[in-house]
Amino acid sequence: MNERVRKPEWLKIKIGANQRYTDTKKIVDSHCLHTICTSGRCPNLGECWGRGTATFMISGEICTRSCKFCNTMTGKPLALNQEEPTNVAKSIALMKLDHAVITSVDRDDLPDQGAEHWAKTITEIKRLNPNTTIEVLIPDFQGKPELIQKVIDAKPDIISHNMETIKRISPNVRSAANYSRSLSVIRQIADSGIRAKSGIMVGLGETEEEVYELMDDLRAVNCQVLTIGQYLQPSKKHYPVAAYITPQQFTKYREIGEAKGFDKVESAPLVRSSYHAEKHIVTK
Ligand code: SF4
Ligand code: SF4
Repeated sequence: MNERVRKPEWLKIKIGANQRYTDTKKIVDSHCLHTICTSGRCPNLGECWGRGTATFMISGEICTRSCKFCNTMTGKPLALNQEEPTNVAKSIALMKLDHAVITSVDRDDLPDQGAEHWAKTITEIKRLNPNTTIEVLIPDFQGKPELIQKVIDAKPDIISHNMETIKRISPNVRSAANYSRSLSVIRQIADSGIRAKSGIMVGLGETEEEVYELMDDLRAVNCQVLTIGQYLQPSKKHYPVAAYITPQQFTKYREIGEAKGFDKVESAPLVRSSYHAEKHIVTK
């Protein structure tokens, strides 16, 4: 980033730790769970945990990929924890969540890239929390339809796969995923009848027109929900921020996205894929 571009006022984060925050932390820690809230250094941590909501990250905390914008640890992951599906499900019960969001690191080291573990986790959450709606933010499973199908067959309420950024910048920042493969993942989800969602970051150097082109590509595969948030550089080693997008521009993206036919566009500087995710669900 141009060093003279300072973080604007609207990105100042409110930090607050209430009792609910402490309870959420206790549940996460005592079940040896990982969350993208902490590993991704999410700016909404105080607010979300303070509301008793978190996004669980399954399949360990070490990713086999190394995207230039991402703060998750990368390297050789540990073996899958077979207790994890039950631990996640129990935590959701303890937190009394109406809507649970699960994501994972990419496990390119496993023969099925972790698809079976995903399916078990969803099944276990449903077993222990029959009234909780489930949203999963999945990797691309190297674009293998039979692996994506395993997640679809477990029948979560909403499946999200992030495009992360516009087409031109995608190869510069995503380590193994690619734009057209991600669109095929979303097409398969939408074709299955499950609600399809995606998310992008802005401020990576994209133009407004490129964001609209991405919206058109997502609508062409029937993506129904889109989240747009400001990219924040996790450390100096990560991809630089090209611009801080104004709140007015975020509002314009929301309005144009809705006009293009998305059911829901969440667009604001601090929006993340799982931010206020309960609003993206169609009530059962
Ligand atoms: Fe966690 Fe998502 Fe909230 Fe961030 S927006 S703190 S990742 S639940
Ligand atoms: Fe981060 Fe990329 Fe791994 Fe996802 S695939 S957890 S964005 S490094």
